[in-house]
Amino acid sequence: MSNYKDNLMELLKEAIVELYSGGLVFHEITESGFYCDFDLSEPLNPEKINAINNRLSGRDIPCAYELSGFSGAYQDGDANKKMLQRIYVAAFETQAELQAHRDKMAKAFEHDHKKIGAQLGIFSTSDEVGQGLVLWHPKGATSRFLLEQFSQAAHLLNGYQWAYTPHIGRSELWKISGHLENFRDNMYNPIDIDGEEYYLKPMNCPFHFIIYNSETRSYRDLPIRMAEFGNVYRYELSGTLHGLTRVRGFTQDDAHIICTPEQVESEVAFALKFSLYILRSFGLTEFKPYVSTKPKNKSIGSDEQWAMATEVLKKAVVAAGLEYEIDEGGGAFYGPKIDLKLYDSLGREWQCSTIQFDFNLPERFKMKYVGSDGRNHIPVVVHRALFGSIERFFALLIEHYKGDFPLWYAPVQFAIVPINQSHNDYCKRLEIGLKKLGLRVDADYTETHMREKIKRFETEKIPYIFVVGDKDIEAGGFSVRSRKHGNLGVMNLESLSEHIKDDLEQGKPKYILAEGVEV
Ligand SMILES: [Zn+2]
Repeated sequence: MSNYKDNLMELLKEAIVELYSGGLVFHEITESGFYCDFDLSEPLNPEKINAINNRLSGRDIPCAYELSGFSGAYQDGDANKKMLQRIYVAAFETQAELQAHRDKMAKAFEHDHKKIGAQLGIFSTSDEVGQGLVLWHPKGATSRFLLEQFSQAAHLLNGYQWAYTPHIGRSELWKISGHLENFRDNMYNPIDIDGEEYYLKPMNCPFHFIIYNSETRSYRDLPIRMAEFGNVYRYELSGTLHGLTRVRGFTQDDAHIICTPEQVESEVAFALKFSLYILRSFGLTEFKPYVSTKPKNKSIGSDEQWAMATEVLKKAVVAAGLEYEIDEGGGAFYGPKIDLKLYDSLGREWQCSTIQFDFNLPERFKMKYVGSDGRNHIPVVVHRALFGSIERFFALLIEHYKGDFPLWYAPVQFAIVPINQSHNDYCKRLEIGLKKLGLRVDADYTETHMREKIKRFETEKIPYIFVVGDKDIEAGGFSVRSRKHGNLGVMNLESLSEHIKDDLEQGKPKYILAEGVEV
């Protein structure tokens, strides 16, 4: 099927060898074409791309294509290795397919979270701080605070307990957990403290299990659902780092559900229901759950354990009113999982929530509870990440909404524009009135022309702009322009409160734990 891509790649290679005597080092076929990494004596530039294009145009090419971009790329994504020259090629069987692809790319560029993140003052990264380490600017931090506040309150309301744990732990801990054995390549080098080795944490699980083990647990204490926004650090090749989606330090909204075998079915069903509730609160509605089964090569746990756990996961998906797809052999060696994928407004798939069985760590950490028979038993452990990484989830929100965040987590919700200075006093009272309602407001009292003020607030994607002139003051209100609903005429605080009630309601945590409560 991808034969035309192979043929085109061969012609591209010939053209580059003839023009610049460079060798092809690496290539990868993608859905929309392919990319090739060449070892060239000098970097590519637009003139060289033109020359390659001219060379190709004389050839008989059996498909629609374009050289869609070029960049430097480290060999194997490793900054210590050679810099290669990467050429991206879009290739399709027909011109119409190529055009559709171009349109899609143009749209994706408009939604790009790096671009919008910089425009709206959401985040940045800096060479001085280090690659893959995110700086949250005040506006991004405000939205993030609202997101975390909502999620944390919803967790506490729905039977989760909260934990805070350190960023580093002794090597002993990572030996017990098996991370040094199985995950070392993703971890940073140890820090020496008083002659002992400590590691930055790549995961939170071991800390939660130590908290669990700090007390004798009875079956009456279970289930325990322990949650945390844990900052974890994982090594990623520098060439693969990207915006908020591929970083070296990120925050996992992590939870561990520790329960008896009898409880696990309802616990997994609840974990999924809770995840869907939270995600829907952010305006996300399209999901696809994948149930990943036992891997072929390495796995631990008995066949019965795998069969039981896989069945529990499937039932939970069905109970949530969704249809699952099976990812055959896609489970981790220590247990099967549900991966919940999300679709954004451009129809692209994002990996977010994971609900994962673990047949490994309860034994490694010697976790136990006293059963109703008075004996010790090993509990069932389920790992759950809901947003996955808060950083990546934010990238999804930015791209899904193109920076137009829903009202409840928009960093600034309302902007006030007095038409001239004589309206400032009235507007200041309006600003105070809004703030007293707990709303986030910006106002411009300078002498700048109102059109300029409006333009600035529109660029900042503030959901509502209130314009105030003599007529509005006479009517005891303000003229409302909504990004979503257009011009809404004159409103006052009372009618505004009524108008935004439902949108703000989305951001208020609900109790959904009880059976039969629909969300
Ligand atoms: Zn975990």
